[in-house]
Amino acid sequence: MTHRALIGVGSNLGLPAENCEKAFSLIDQSASIKVTARSSLYHAEPVGKTDQPWFVNAAVEVQTSLTPEELLQTLLDIERQFGRIREEKWGARVIDLDILDYDGKVIDSDFLTLPHPEMVHRRFVLEPLSEIAGSTIHPLENKTILDLLNNLPNKQVVKKFQTS
Ligand code: ATP
Ligand code: CA
Ligand code: CA
Repeated sequence: MTHRALIGVGSNLGLPAENCEKAFSLIDQSASIKVTARSSLYHAEPVGKTDQPWFVNAAVEVQTSLTPEELLQTLLDIERQFGRIREEKWGARVIDLDILDYDGKVIDSDFLTLPHPEMVHRRFVLEPLSEIAGSTIHPLENKTILDLLNNLPNKQVVKKFQTS
């Protein structure tokens, strides 16, 4: 388990909070992956395609001995277990699991881009991620996740779940 990866989790179909919790468990139960930290759950208004339900978003940190490609394959397998069907880009989905970072590696292949190219613009990613990896340096921006969040111009509404 020598590698550290950060994974973004999102859902806006069915029971989104339960879907995210189930995804955390399935990731942790996968061979050669251990969840070492998880963020709170957040409600996030949809961006891009706005005529769809609000999302629940979260982030998890894992330790893994898988390669980045093997890790992505595992996450895509978990998405399939939820019955995710890929329709329109950025449309509603029962679960979405993105690799945000893997040991600060930079990869650009047809199958996998690291760090995740959109994370720097997305409040729904940076907000939960800053809870568990605020001091992690983004390998292309050379800034911490917390700095990226604090300098984000977009005003997307992203609210932490209230725990009572
Ligand atoms: P976005 O990538 O903008 O968040 P999305 O998550 O809706 O959009 P998907 O349809 O879930 O996009 O993913 C399409 C493909 O993206 C996947 O099949 C995968 O091969 C590829 N991909 C490239 N880089 C990554 C990454 N870092 N994490 C997850 N998938 C990635
Ligand atoms: Ca995504
Ligand atoms: Ca995805």
